[in-house]
Amino acid sequence: MPIAKEKPYIGRFAPSPSGPLHFGSLVAALASYLDAKASHGLWLVRVEDIDPPREQPGATETILMALDAYGMHWDGEVLYQSKREEAYQRVLEQLWEGGLLYPCNCTRKKLAGLNGVYPGFCRQKTSYPDNEPFALRLKCTDSKISFRDKIQGDQSVRLADLGDFILRRKDLLYAYQLAVCVDDQYQGVTHIVRGYDLLDSTPRQLYLQSLLEYRHPVYAHIPVITQVAGGEKLSKQNRAKALPLDYPRPLLVKAMKALGLQPDNDLLASSVDEILLWGVEQWDINKVPKVPEIPMPMLL
Ligand code: GLU
Repeated sequence: MPIAKEKPYIGRFAPSPSGPLHFGSLVAALASYLDAKASHGLWLVRVEDIDPPREQPGATETILMALDAYGMHWDGEVLYQSKREEAYQRVLEQLWEGGLLYPCNCTRKKLAGLNGVYPGFCRQKTSYPDNEPFALRLKCTDSKISFRDKIQGDQSVRLADLGDFILRRKDLLYAYQLAVCVDDQYQGVTHIVRGYDLLDSTPRQLYLQSLLEYRHPVYAHIPVITQVAGGEKLSKQNRAKALPLDYPRPLLVKAMKALGLQPDNDLLASSVDEILLWGVEQWDINKVPKVPEIPMPMLL
């Protein structure tokens, strides 16, 4: 009988350098790391530095230092999206030539109150407006996108409910949805483990991947960590506390607990590498809470 060859696994963590890593991003990094390593896969790091207005000087270095301090060593070289602009531009041109994009100069004011769902005001435009900034939007069909999330289960969304989305912004920056698809394909990513806040981006990315004839990765969305008071998602924008670099073990153990693992207190006495090895051995994606968010545990 032929031995079934296991499909290679390539996972990734893709932080935006808008601030240092916090407990929520530690949980996200750890989930993608453990899932990759438990599958004997590669774990890549990609710095999503394509939005300079939102970036914080020095954040990239701090993020990479934190990953190192928490024992999560990436495979290969870090990929920087700021160096990938030519690739994004080529894909935009391909989509434009295929008649799949249109220029949109709608103002924020015009779109207020539409809950982020673009109603197609500029859909018929075929040429660029003169002397006016414009975004490029992807024409979406009214199809249904269904997929099975490895944590959150079956998902099904009508693209029309999300609206035509932007691939190049008015300020000429490439949009996240474009860059993420181009780079996941370029890096051969097969599995994406990330926060629940990106679950509604997944149908958009699946659609774009189909248009570009890219392969579809497997998706798993972990709960986001929220502030205890207020229930707001921990984020770099709301100045969630940066991870301490000199005392990683307690937070690493708490992050494992947030992902459904049950370390006992002895593990705290182990080294960072031993804690991670324990996590890889114990990892079971079915144990990750199947909820959108969980409150921040008491730290230290
Ligand atoms: N750069 C995104 C973020 O920091 C994550 C992108 C992704 O995992 O697809 O929220």
